[in-house]
Amino acid sequence: MFDLIIRNANLPDGRSGIDIAIANGEIAEVASRIEAEAGEEIDATGRLVSPPFVDPHFHMDATLSLGLPRMNRSGTLLEGIALWGELRPILTREALVERALRYCDLAVSQGLLAIRSHVDTSDPRLVTAEALIEVREKVAPYIDLQLVAFPQDGYYRSPGGVDALNRALDMGLDIVGGIPHFERTMADGAASVAALCRIAADRGLPVDMHCDETDDPMSRHIETLAAETVRFGLQGRVAGSHLTSMHSMDNYYVSKLIPLMTEAQINVIPNPLINIMLQGRHDTYPKRRGMTRVRELMEAGLNVSFGHDCVMDPWYSMGSGDMLEVGHMAVHVAQMAGIEDKKKIFDALTVNSAKTMGLEGYGLEKGGNADLVILQARDPVEALRLKANRLTVIRRGKVIARSAPRIAELNLDGRPATVDGAAYAPIVPGA
Ligand SMILES: [Zn+2]
Repeated sequence: MFDLIIRNANLPDGRSGIDIAIANGEIAEVASRIEAEAGEEIDATGRLVSPPFVDPHFHMDATLSLGLPRMNRSGTLLEGIALWGELRPILTREALVERALRYCDLAVSQGLLAIRSHVDTSDPRLVTAEALIEVREKVAPYIDLQLVAFPQDGYYRSPGGVDALNRALDMGLDIVGGIPHFERTMADGAASVAALCRIAADRGLPVDMHCDETDDPMSRHIETLAAETVRFGLQGRVAGSHLTSMHSMDNYYVSKLIPLMTEAQINVIPNPLINIMLQGRHDTYPKRRGMTRVRELMEAGLNVSFGHDCVMDPWYSMGSGDMLEVGHMAVHVAQMAGIEDKKKIFDALTVNSAKTMGLEGYGLEKGGNADLVILQARDPVEALRLKANRLTVIRRGKVIARSAPRIAELNLDGRPATVDGAAYAPIVPGA
């Protein structure tokens, strides 16, 4: 007797007609026909059942603050940072907690059950860290929330930046952040990378830096980050977020850089929505796309996972907590439109991100956490195309969100009475 059985599921790896049995919050069995009873059964009717979406790069202290205290007029990264600097002194713990919890509600409705958030440590009050630690506890039953100590105004550049970041880690933030391209000089940026990797090694923590988030082809902080990762023996525990400069770098140099990143096992986190919106702003025409070299990094064997980065904040006025929207943009900006390409993009929103975050018990295997999402789509390729509706979201075996299928009623003579967008999947030979 199981607690729950999901019947007739399609899995992301292509298996179909699969039953998933759940007991005590864990996946007890995955098989083509489970002959057993359960307290509850859900018929997936041949739809995709995926492990939950995972966002490895977000800013939960800024989300849903759009319009406070004013809008970003130029739409640039630098005005966004300046605007955030205006808002930061008037932030309260209560308002931060309320906005973050509202965002987590939205995330759950989108099947997004693990988030790594950067937390700005530039205000010495550290009200952001206090608030997000409270949120991490409150949402723990339904979202795995990791917190990065992030010196938005620069580790060295901002007076008190060194002290505040260390105090935030003492308070219990999980990961060491950084922003080397925002330091005053390339040398200061490199020094900050070395100092922050040393802190991570001393404290036994992972590293996740905003790194080379510029269009400067000469920005070299990812090289330093990879080299320091190897020097401190942090292989596999370091993430390079954005890496947009790699888009503009000299090809010969990149042919030397990528093997170094591979040696350091850097987790690469592009943020397609934000990168396409904020990069190339100094270009006239042609304008660069600015996202890092996703295909080449994947082909080199690096773990690439996509972040949402921002939802309705000083940097980005759009966003809806939908990681499929992130993947949809990635397909376009990386020009990865082949069937195998799209499967890799879907993995970058799920299994790869879980690896970046070091999540335990993630995935649809026996013994794993019973965390999963039933989508209104047949497979990962269709899920991306449709930004598919999340019909059922399950955490530790319990349904925590449900949506009605998105089906339109038609009123046309001689045409069908209803339209289900997910019924338009093409017949692809060999797919
Ligand atoms: Zn960011």
